[in-house]
Amino acid sequence: MSRVTTMQVGKLRVHALEAGIQHLDGGAMFGVVPKPLWEKRIAADARNRIRLAMRTLLIEHDDGLVLVDSGLGNKETQKFLDIYGIENAGADGRTALEDALAELGHRPEDVKVVVSTHLHFDHAGGNTFIAPDDAERRVQPTFPNARYVAHRREYAYAAHANERTTASYFPHNYAPLIESGQMQMIDGPAGTVVPGVRVMVTPGHTPWHMSVLLESAGEGLLFPADTVPTAHHLPLPWIMGYDVEPLRTLESKRALYYRGMAEGWRVVFEHDADTVGGRMVSGEKGTELAERMGAPAASP
Ligand SMILES: [Zn+2]
Repeated sequence: MSRVTTMQVGKLRVHALEAGIQHLDGGAMFGVVPKPLWEKRIAADARNRIRLAMRTLLIEHDDGLVLVDSGLGNKETQKFLDIYGIENAGADGRTALEDALAELGHRPEDVKVVVSTHLHFDHAGGNTFIAPDDAERRVQPTFPNARYVAHRREYAYAAHANERTTASYFPHNYAPLIESGQMQMIDGPAGTVVPGVRVMVTPGHTPWHMSVLLESAGEGLLFPADTVPTAHHLPLPWIMGYDVEPLRTLESKRALYYRGMAEGWRVVFEHDADTVGGRMVSGEKGTELAERMGAPAASP
């Protein structure tokens, strides 16, 4: 079964990689939206959890392979994997992300840039790994030749977590990379990672959460990460209960849609288990999805 969906954005060849599945509480995923409404769109299991992808983006760029987010990784305990219903095991004790790279003929060593939209465990967990045969359980960079990129204020937010936010941040996903200098920090509201690959702060899910915009030869593709985690979150008020500043998420979405619809952007959703993405269009109910791309059979 394939873990890869390939698309062309101008001159850039782009792959959505299925880095595994997680199951999160449906109520938390839809915030103030009542269950009778969200349940019509997505079924909950016996523990009220919904099935979610951990999808990453791989860009074949002249400057080398650029990876956006890295899934959960292989460092968490069995108890943790059960709580979050994680299905991301790959070959040789690594993860589905490495399997997806291998499907394209790439090794982790080939990746040149890794962008973390934010440092939550389901986005930055695959930044580092523990070799399955390492008795000392040393945390190593998954992508030894890559420059990692995160936002300086997101890191500060993670490093000063409070009782509400601490459960999402595990230092082993980023602290070793910062200590070694392999993770670089972006400042300010936006930045260019490599030509045609831009990060933009889209606050709300976290105060310095970033979305990624690919632009090439007049075409655009948005990776909004947790600003619009699934196609079901396209309506403006469908905002996750996890978000620390939900009214800022609302304005981030409004701004992205305004530009995205004017410029005809496509979109790839990080957490939608059924829909990889499509094109944002203006419909009867606001922003809707056209040209839907279904997910490859990603179940183990
Ligand atoms: Zn997430």
